Amino acid sequence: MSIRLGIVGLGKIARDQHLGAIEATGGIELVAVASRKATLDGVASFNDIQDLLSSDVEINAVSLCTPPQGRFEQAMAAIEAGKHVMLEKPPGATLSEVHALEALAKEKGVTLFSTWHSREAAAVEPTRALLAQRTIRSVAVEWKEDVRHWHPGQAWIWEPGGLGVFDPGINALSIVTRIMPVPFHLVRSDLFFPENRAAPIAASLVFEAVGGMAVTAEFDWRQTGPQTWDIRIDTEEGPVVVTHGGSRLTVDGEQRMVEEDREYRNLYKHFVQLVGEGRSDADFSPLVHVADAFLLGRRHAVEPFED
Ligand code: NAP
Repeated sequence: MSIRLGIVGLGKIARDQHLGAIEATGGIELVAVASRKATLDGVASFNDIQDLLSSDVEINAVSLCTPPQGRFEQAMAAIEAGKHVMLEKPPGATLSEVHALEALAKEKGVTLFSTWHSREAAAVEPTRALLAQRTIRSVAVEWKEDVRHWHPGQAWIWEPGGLGVFDPGINALSIVTRIMPVPFHLVRSDLFFPENRAAPIAASLVFEAVGGMAVTAEFDWRQTGPQTWDIRIDTEEGPVVVTHGGSRLTVDGEQRMVEEDREYRNLYKHFVQLVGEGRSDADFSPLVHVADAFLLGRRHAVEPFED
């Protein structure tokens, strides 16, 4: 039986990625949308998730594409109503709320899928397999992009819980937590807050991995021109370089992979599988590192940011 899905929050990512990915995935169909301002032709449209859940439109799952602040209440309502839930990244505004969701989903016997779209980039699993065979000396992440281009007019991203530059930075952390063969933990965090904003525009992080190796990450939202989403791993056997957000892999100077983007199609395929098998997939480790970055963060004021 096909999953009857409702999308909540018809914004940029829902339109850019979710709609096409659902269309391209077997075993799932979009039957409803809940969004305050947007509607979708040919699909039942509601103002919010409460209206959707209390309607006579039959759904058995929701995909939450709203900002992280406020998503907890939506997810709780859906799980309470016995619906399977797919969460955009980051899974929530706090760690305690996402753990509460995980516990409730288990109690209610529904699937909770906390997605990390960057983990679905083509180079991620091959890099994980390769690093399991190598001795890592250091890892350097550079995730630098132009906030004006990627988040035009999105106020929530600068508000508490919106994560600021960690909104893209958590994508890098989702990849690193997947490919590293050993755990790592934060030892230093410098956060750069525009004087007029409640979230950082840049962050500089130093982690230490088991065995003492350094993992560094530079996140910056002020980059214009070419954008940088790179992870460079120095291994005793030679350099392993993952670029373009995880879609390209170069090993020992030789390009191994250049793949087209299938991230969201992979996510929906996995969701259909999880629901079919009655399982959840909720790894919150990237959010743990972001929370640590705020806990340990040394704050620096930088010039005001205007949209
Ligand atoms: P967005 O363009 O602002 O869309 C979110 C939608 O959620 C809005 O259009 C809005 O639709 C609805 N919404 C409900 N409550 C809201 C509130 N309090 N404030 C603002 N909007 C609210 O954001 P987005 O870029 O799609 O991002 C949504 C989530 O996807 C985030 O967690 C983000 O990290 C993730 N994501 C984004 C991208 C990207 O490239 N943009 C990529 C990957 C993942 P209504 O006004 O109609 O209710």
